Amino acid sequence: MTETLIVGLEVHVQLLTNTKIFCGCINRFNPDAPNTQTCPVCLGHPGSLPVMNEEAFRLSLITAIALNCEIAPFTKWDRKQYFYPDLPKGYQISQFDLPFSHDGWLEATSEDGTRRKIRINRAHLEEDAGKNIHDESGRGNDSQVDLNRTGTPLLEIVSEPDFRSAAEAKSYLEELHLLLTFLGVSDCNMQEGSLRCDANVNLHYGEGDDKIATPIVEVKNLNSFRAVEAAIEYEATRQKKIYEETRRKLGDPGVMKETRGWDANRNATFGQRGKEEASDYRYFPDPDLVPVTVTAERVAEIKAALPEPPSTRRQRFESEFGLSAYDADVIMNQGKDVADYYETVVTIAKDGKQAANWVTQDVLREMKERTESISEFPVHAAVLGAIIQRVVDKKITNKSGREVFSVLLEEADEDHEASDGRIDEIISERGLEVVSDTGALEEAVKSAIAESPKAVEDFKAGKQQAVGAIIGKVMRLAKGADAKSVRELIIKTLQEM
Ligand SMILES: [Zn+2]
Repeated sequence: MTETLIVGLEVHVQLLTNTKIFCGCINRFNPDAPNTQTCPVCLGHPGSLPVMNEEAFRLSLITAIALNCEIAPFTKWDRKQYFYPDLPKGYQISQFDLPFSHDGWLEATSEDGTRRKIRINRAHLEEDAGKNIHDESGRGNDSQVDLNRTGTPLLEIVSEPDFRSAAEAKSYLEELHLLLTFLGVSDCNMQEGSLRCDANVNLHYGEGDDKIATPIVEVKNLNSFRAVEAAIEYEATRQKKIYEETRRKLGDPGVMKETRGWDANRNATFGQRGKEEASDYRYFPDPDLVPVTVTAERVAEIKAALPEPPSTRRQRFESEFGLSAYDADVIMNQGKDVADYYETVVTIAKDGKQAANWVTQDVLREMKERTESISEFPVHAAVLGAIIQRVVDKKITNKSGREVFSVLLEEADEDHEASDGRIDEIISERGLEVVSDTGALEEAVKSAIAESPKAVEDFKAGKQQAVGAIIGKVMRLAKGADAKSVRELIIKTLQEM
């Protein structure tokens, strides 16, 4: 029977607002001073009233529109009730039956390399809970609660169960991460939990009416790309084994959804509890908050102001600058700043492929060694563009271009600013200009040949590689000469001798 992996992702994104979603408390990750960023509203004191943070709603709209979602003209808030020590009100303010957005999509790369639209069921806004800190020393069972995070605005983006492999799910999450950084709506710091993900995983056997599905497992709080991929792979193997041994399937009496955690050290999921159904939460409309209306004009306005999304920009880099899909990917995956840097370089250099080679190899290597961001990189995009332009115009060789680049970097370390004008000075100081004067080059070839009787003899005896010694001599005589043309000229001269 054919076996199909079925995966859906729920991604939680902490929005980059100054204050929390329903109160004026500062919205910053601060684990060093627990319970200092709180007030009666986020502590859930009786009588305190929430007020929606307009900025959180605006950032949510931007994201949902960029995810091609429909925006609801009318949206309201609901209370999701459950008991947990990190939830002082006894309920979480969320959106249940009328989320502010629905039915969008985002492209992800499948295992065969093709790009495919993954459907997004909905994106809704909610508040985050606090954080329980458990004593892991083994000495006691003390647990503490930090409510600094309570009330952080969270955007939950729920995909349809469209993923058919762990790699595809990871690719979607990477694309989503990139889009969110392009939009600037979240700092997307996965280690600190600004972007975390739950994966719903099960297996289907057979097709159509005879289809059998294994019980759905939700793996919670995956906070790295690697964890998402590894947890899905682990679950696929585990569920297959259980099904083959027990034939337990969805719909059997007593079979319910299960919530599992991910242990990155053991590289395995572990059981937590039976998964709640929506009815367990006793959702009901929050009477303290007014519903929100969004006009079509507002949606159109936000849409018009959106930055070019990574997927469109990647395609444009391919079509406009002649990049391979691979090169376009490498540049885009470095984030918006590097993509902007590249675009400025290519506008001046007028050669997409060469500009890509320089940026992905020389610039990224140097940038990483200096652990700086591209915005602080001492050779600005316009200056690099000017170096490459001289290579493209054959004023200097590629090798000389790299020499100019290193000199500029060395000088930047001594606090001299890299500039356009400095490029030409370095070229002339070091005699890097390509010798286009054929007369001078011919002279250099002649004298190099005259100085190398042994190499000439070897060449005449059929040893092509003997030319190498003569090339070296010519390059010392005519510094900026292009090695390929020198080689051709030497062979031509030798053959005519
Ligand atoms: Zn507060």
